[in-house]
Amino acid sequence: MPEGDSLHRAAQRLLPLVGQRLEVQSPNPRAQATGIAPRIDGRVLESVEAVGKNLLLTFEGGIVVRSHLRMTGRWRIEPRGKPRTGLPWLVLRGDELEGVLWNGPVLTLEKGRVRRLGQDVLAEDFDLDAAVARLRGAGDRWLGEALQDQRLVAGIGNMWMAEALWTIRVSPWVRVAEAGEDVLRDAVAAARRLMQESLATGRPGRDVYRRAGRPCLRCGTIVRSRGQGDANRTAYWCPDCQAGAGPPGE
Ligand SMILES: [Zn+2]
Repeated sequence: MPEGDSLHRAAQRLLPLVGQRLEVQSPNPRAQATGIAPRIDGRVLESVEAVGKNLLLTFEGGIVVRSHLRMTGRWRIEPRGKPRTGLPWLVLRGDELEGVLWNGPVLTLEKGRVRRLGQDVLAEDFDLDAAVARLRGAGDRWLGEALQDQRLVAGIGNMWMAEALWTIRVSPWVRVAEAGEDVLRDAVAAARRLMQESLATGRPGRDVYRRAGRPCLRCGTIVRSRGQGDANRTAYWCPDCQAGAGPPGE
């Protein structure tokens, strides 16, 4: 059972990542539903410390992530890009190494630092109408960016954003203000369904995500990628079979 000492060993293992700007992902939908990965993606990891049975990871901007391993959680350090099967809770990708959290099970932002979150997209009593109404508040932001705003709807990261919009054949570069009600509904519903399926099957959906430069699985057109929004998260889309605008300036 992970006790204090194993937490200290975990902190030691993650030390090489301190000082680096990390790419962060939550392949596991349960972890993704915490909304944590998008909050720390692209930020510098400033410190890692074991406090009691918790591992506290402090990121640039004063964001502190608490990881409690309980019986099952494990932090491992692996070479960057090492192929793996399964859905880790968190992948902290540095220049050469990545810290990988397996089997969570407790991952939270420290109290007092969490901005109010939207509904958890995986919640059993998820209210699609309410989520769409909130999403509508994103105004003239791009749909791909707005879907990842955890204050609007919590839990969707850039992988599920890309997959959901590819599934419903809508470009991530559509402005929310210009998107029809049905588009917003379909986008959120698709993200929820794909994440539920992934949770049930253990498989990540990978029809378009990280397939830039390769043929679209539906129409054969080359998939594109480009950073989007304030956080510059990478959007992946097919310029042919996903309806709507492309990036600005095109
Ligand atoms: Zn296509």
